[in-house]
Amino acid sequence: MTRILLRNGVIHTGLASAEPTTAMAVEDGRIVWTGTDPDGFTSPDEVVDLGGRLVTPAFVDSHVHVVETGEQILGLDLGGAPSREVVLDMVAAYVTDLGPDDLVLAQGWDETLWPDPTLPTATELDRASGGRKVYLNRIDGHSAVVSSALMAQVPGITGLPGWTAEGRVEREALRALLPLLADLTPAGHAERGARAALQAMAALGIGAFHENAGPDIGPESDLVAVQTQAADAGLHGTYYWGAHLGFGDLDRLDDVAGLAGDLSADGSMGSRSAALTFDYADLAGHRGHAYLDPERMAEHIVGCTRRGLQAGFHCIGDQAIDNIAQAFRLAETALGAETLRTRRHRLEHCELPSPAAAETFTHLGVIASMQPMFDGLWGGPDRMYAARLGERWQQMNPFRTLLDAGVRIAFGSDSPVTPLDPWAAVHAAVHHRTPGQGITPAEAFAAHTVGGWYAAGIDDAGTLAVGQRATYAVWDRTTFPDLTTPDVADVTTACLQTVVDGRTVFEKEGVW
Ligand SMILES: [Zn+2]
Repeated sequence: MTRILLRNGVIHTGLASAEPTTAMAVEDGRIVWTGTDPDGFTSPDEVVDLGGRLVTPAFVDSHVHVVETGEQILGLDLGGAPSREVVLDMVAAYVTDLGPDDLVLAQGWDETLWPDPTLPTATELDRASGGRKVYLNRIDGHSAVVSSALMAQVPGITGLPGWTAEGRVEREALRALLPLLADLTPAGHAERGARAALQAMAALGIGAFHENAGPDIGPESDLVAVQTQAADAGLHGTYYWGAHLGFGDLDRLDDVAGLAGDLSADGSMGSRSAALTFDYADLAGHRGHAYLDPERMAEHIVGCTRRGLQAGFHCIGDQAIDNIAQAFRLAETALGAETLRTRRHRLEHCELPSPAAAETFTHLGVIASMQPMFDGLWGGPDRMYAARLGERWQQMNPFRTLLDAGVRIAFGSDSPVTPLDPWAAVHAAVHHRTPGQGITPAEAFAAHTVGGWYAAGIDDAGTLAVGQRATYAVWDRTTFPDLTTPDVADVTTACLQTVVDGRTVFEKEGVW
């Protein structure tokens, strides 16, 4: 066992009552000593001079789609496209390198940022792509636009809910396309994507991630690809499979922490499929779609709890979240509060919770896995939430209210929905667009580190204290960033090294 001493650094332990710490020793993947006097740790095998640099616990991304993130890195990313015309131009440019039968898979478009929100049509995609099979996933993954050649491969799609003649698909129609997309993607595609995404995470100081896989996201083989690549890359993965009552799936899948993650209780705000208790401000008479009723969710929660699994759901709108709260109360009647609490069930997004729902989640220890960049991108009086909800945009992602109510929070990116950028995320959480909903720098950093470990059921990681996992990042700066500063550029910092359980998973060339 090698005993490594890191000295001459600024070590941000993440502990509330932190003594100044400049040195830390690691042995067998654990922190075995911390202090200020490096002579206090005797006979190390190896000494690393940190050169005054900052060391923090590595970030945990509590909601990520690894293969899709890799597709974004390696493939056609429409994230920055400022208009429908640019999307069509990007598709046209992209296909010049493709064979006539190759699938065009792209993602990230967001029409709410365009001057004219009219979507590209199937006919326009046919023209831009030279008649190829095209699938353009919306930024939220809850709707897509597709070409005629792709639709033609799914007999009966035109009769499914969520299909439109113009080529926009959502819900059942979207789901019907997923097996076809899996068939059309070339061998090794998922592995290549996973590898690229994991490298990107490690290079950003993210040492652990929660993969939100599921039958509505991609095939089981994608999850296996992520698990294999993560073991190889050395990042710590926690794996969720978002299948309703999908206990049989676990005969085939290993190392699944829960039937949770993107098991959708509703859709998204951008696609107007989040389930609301009131009409959308920009679509009178429409309240979105609740996909699961409370009884069916309660059955899922009870089944997961009995099997030692975490249960969880994707939920955005207040109606969906109220339905889930009701489901948890039904489960409490069946199992008791204490049994539910020990399982640390979790909700993804949980963007518009009512006070009553928050009270239920506090009572039953249900964790909210949230994404600060959702507010960063879509919050505020003149962006997408305001367009969909009117004045109620101010009730979205209420971090302060939830923490004050006693709800545990974990932060993530939902990448590729928002970029992998943990410093920007914690900055956004401090600078919430709704006055009064910002949280403190310490709370925000904790939610993106120890909060993520907690949400995965792991209690020996997330701070740099003796006995904890040696999972940390070294940064190209000498102080912990001032997260209260308005400009995010002053906060975002280059990562120099990422270490997981004592193993280096990323190191900037020539840093030591
Ligand atoms: Zn997701």
